[in-house]
Amino acid sequence: MIPPSKCDHGGRFLRDPNHPLKPAAQGGGFVLRQGLLSSAQEPYRVTHCFFCGGRLDGADVVVAETGQICPCIKSHADDPSCPVKWDTELEEFNVLSHEKPGRALWRMYFCPWCGSRLPEGRRAERFTQMSSEDLKLIRTRLEGAESIADVIARLGEPDRVFPGHPDDFRMKYDGKKVLRQLDFLGLSPTVSVCVQEFEDTSIQIHYSGKFIGKSRPS
Ligand SMILES: [Zn+2]
Ligand SMILES: [Zn+2]
Repeated sequence: MIPPSKCDHGGRFLRDPNHPLKPAAQGGGFVLRQGLLSSAQEPYRVTHCFFCGGRLDGADVVVAETGQICPCIKSHADDPSCPVKWDTELEEFNVLSHEKPGRALWRMYFCPWCGSRLPEGRRAERFTQMSSEDLKLIRTRLEGAESIADVIARLGEPDRVFPGHPDDFRMKYDGKKVLRQLDFLGLSPTVSVCVQEFEDTSIQIHYSGKFIGKSRPS
């Protein structure tokens, strides 16, 4: 069992105007809303963070270890006006944007109604397993890097650069706009490095397996 934890993703989601998670208009608590919802319908009241399983009200909770599809998330995904959608190909649940209905933006790891951990899905099959030695070597090379210039001085030029886009709400992290994203794909056969630069020139480094495409016909 993972020890009880307090959630801070809730606050981050609430600061994002596109996120369907909103404070409830009446009676406290939180709701999921989206554009398709007609005024006659009640928004969906939720209690758990779908990212960490923590209670949105900060109450202690014990997070389950094994994944399952609980009846509450299944019935919400079957409801066409609920912003929760099931991705049949990847076998995972997503929450759709409040402002731009139809766009799946946030993957769900926990049921926001009962806090059950959701199954892993098939996404991992599309990526290489990261070699722990390679990961360690790359992390060592990047130790103490605090800017894009530091990263390039250590790793060389990136293989791909994506500019941040002012309208793209995915390109936001904790309220900070992403100026650009640099991908380093040739450092290891199994590890990709993605570095995001924010508007205050701070950076965040992500390590992931390499995309190997679909492992089965869809
Ligand atoms: Zn959380
Ligand atoms: Zn549930």
